[in-house]
Amino acid sequence: MVRAVAMYIGIDIGATNTRIALADQEGRIVKKIRFPSPHEGDEYTVARLLVEKIRENFRDWLEKVRAVGIGTIGPVDLRKGMVVNSPNLGIRTFYLVGPLKEDLGKPVYMLNDCVAAVWGEKMFGAARDTDNAVYITFSTGIGGGVIVDGALLLGKDGNAHEIGHIVVDYKYRIRCGCGGYGHWEGYASGANIPRFAQYIAEHEELSGEEKRSPLYRLALEGRLTSEIIYREAKRCDPFAERVVNEVIKINVAGVASVINVYDPEVVSIGGSVALNNPELVIEPIIREVPKNIVNRAPRILRTPLGEDAVIYGAIALAMNPPSTLLRFLQKDA
Ligand SMILES: [Zn+2]
Repeated sequence: MVRAVAMYIGIDIGATNTRIALADQEGRIVKKIRFPSPHEGDEYTVARLLVEKIRENFRDWLEKVRAVGIGTIGPVDLRKGMVVNSPNLGIRTFYLVGPLKEDLGKPVYMLNDCVAAVWGEKMFGAARDTDNAVYITFSTGIGGGVIVDGALLLGKDGNAHEIGHIVVDYKYRIRCGCGGYGHWEGYASGANIPRFAQYIAEHEELSGEEKRSPLYRLALEGRLTSEIIYREAKRCDPFAERVVNEVIKINVAGVASVINVYDPEVVSIGGSVALNNPELVIEPIIREVPKNIVNRAPRILRTPLGEDAVIYGAIALAMNPPSTLLRFLQKDA
């Protein structure tokens, strides 16, 4: 019998679902579970549930597990190993690293989900052969992770690249969920595209054709979803196409800014909105962004890790914690 010398656990905490995967020392996922993220409880509910699920589902392997990695919705406080004031989960503030470490008796590392994902790209995905990479997610929100010169960027609390809040509209037409105006995410994230559609219906000059679309009426009534908009755009509905084209302009401005700031070799794109609508989200970015950047154009592509980008990032984090994170944690120990 081949003796498995080391196993790793990766955890992806999302606004809707939490996933836990067990991987071998090559990073191959051996077993994966998924359950709804808890939305009620106290600061320890999430950690307690994670421990319970790990003990229940991975009992036989637990002895061989060397470390646990977590990619979580933010904002994070890496120093305290917790999520602080998250706008997308019912329990806004909760501890992760401390209680898991204590209960499982293993090293536990955590990062913001997109920051973990770019580390996953570096180890297993699109950024394997480069030291300069960006991961961007188009999902409920818009987020990113960045590696420059081989170093995973963290910032003072671990939120170094809240790229979704880059200002892309100096006219400040729409207010973002964070309270700021003109932020990329406020227009182009899955949760906010319907609000942008409503703004377009109310304030932009539209053609007769666009106004005759049934979606124009739904937009005015605030009854659209991103799914409906992308579905109807694929069927050539004029109003849906108009909204998607406006979103593309915003996305091009955002991605071009990210490239101009970080000078990556690779830009990997993930998240459900992008993965479900590559021809309307990823392809226009690939086509339009190179015209709007000063730096040598990077490779822009759909993440090869698909919807598992964060979970692979969490596994990569457990297997090979980035030196910037270890230094960050040491500094405050
Ligand atoms: Zn914002």
